[in-house]
Amino acid sequence: MSLSPFGYRPQRVTTFSAVDLLEYQGKQFFAQFGIPVSDGRPVTTVDEAVAAAEAVGYPVVVKAQVHAGGRGKAGGVKLANNADEVREHAGNILGLDISGHITRIIWIEIASDISEEYYVSFTLDRSAKKHLGMLSKEGGVEIEQVAVENPDAIAKIWIDPVDGLTESVCRDWVLAANLNPSITDGAVALLLKLYTAYTDGDADLAEINPLIVKTDGKVHALDAKVTLDNNAQYRHEWDEYEATQVRDEREEAAHAKGLQYVGLDGTVGVIANGAGLAMSTLDVVNQAGGKPANFLDIGGGANAEVMAGALQVINDDPNVKSIFINIFGGITRGEEVAKGIIGALEMVNIEAPIVIRLDGTNAEEGRALLAPHLSDKLVSKPTMLEAAAAAVELAKKN
Ligand code: GDP
Ligand code: MN
Repeated sequence: MSLSPFGYRPQRVTTFSAVDLLEYQGKQFFAQFGIPVSDGRPVTTVDEAVAAAEAVGYPVVVKAQVHAGGRGKAGGVKLANNADEVREHAGNILGLDISGHITRIIWIEIASDISEEYYVSFTLDRSAKKHLGMLSKEGGVEIEQVAVENPDAIAKIWIDPVDGLTESVCRDWVLAANLNPSITDGAVALLLKLYTAYTDGDADLAEINPLIVKTDGKVHALDAKVTLDNNAQYRHEWDEYEATQVRDEREEAAHAKGLQYVGLDGTVGVIANGAGLAMSTLDVVNQAGGKPANFLDIGGGANAEVMAGALQVINDDPNVKSIFINIFGGITRGEEVAKGIIGALEMVNIEAPIVIRLDGTNAEEGRALLAPHLSDKLVSKPTMLEAAAAAVELAKKN
């Protein structure tokens, strides 16, 4: 999905479409395609961690398994030379909060001796309609940082899915990245496997950071970040991955009510009918200088129950400071929408002020029904822009 003119960027194209793997799951996924990874065990207690370390052999690395990067910096990646050190690190890492993710699973793997840390990833470049490969000898650190400080250090290739990644193109790519020349063959072999894992494995993202060269000269995946395309779920056995997904609580609640909802970071709660209108609503909120708290499409039939469910989900989000209901009546008539909103307000005690823009079929009748209910907590505006401005204003005041 591309950036809209106002800079709003959906986190997902559709809800529940992506399956994010934990590092160890990503490594198991890579291993199926012959990519070298370290032997290890996922565990959930200190005792299991020690047993796992004894089984794989010292020294080991104790690694937090959370859906977040930067674990090393957060203290979630530690080297251990013996059982006491495993005990200490596992004890500290279990329960550790890494960017809001509490560590419940740790991965114990054989430690590697590192001589180089590189970066590689494959993602889909939707605007180019091609796969994008990025390779850099500046690995280990955040790639965003490399992109800003030293963009020339990232070698990019765009791969037409029909052509695939050929060995000769892959070799040129490796040479362009200026990796250590002695590992060119090893890097080419691994990258071809990674491309196969990414395409045949139905991934939207396959990233290795760092891709290491060991002191013995072998190229090896030391970390794994994989996002699978849930639309391909029927082709795979992904139940285990599903079990460890962390979903936005607001999204869980909305989906339980059958609503199309995506949680965002802003303060203006948004309810609209139709995905197109919901997207435009996010844009006008941005244009008015505000930030949407969510995307919520209530679809065609905006009856009181659906509207109440939508308001409930938005009301439960503590970040919401105002609510913008943007309805364009089509098959759904304006007076039905108005009745829905009035009914919903009787069912749910809404804390944030609401701004309504009601247009389309029988909008006048709808507005007449709403008129006696209007107050400083329920405002009606004739146009989308005016309504957005009012909602943003109210969000800033509260
Ligand atoms: P991230 O911080 O979440 O990206 O976690 P990583 O798995 O990438 O680990 C962070 C860093 O820890 C790596 O860049 C390495 O420098 C270091 N590290 C991880 N595993 C090993 C290992 O087996 N041996 C050594 N020497 N360092 C490691
Ligand atoms: Mn990493």
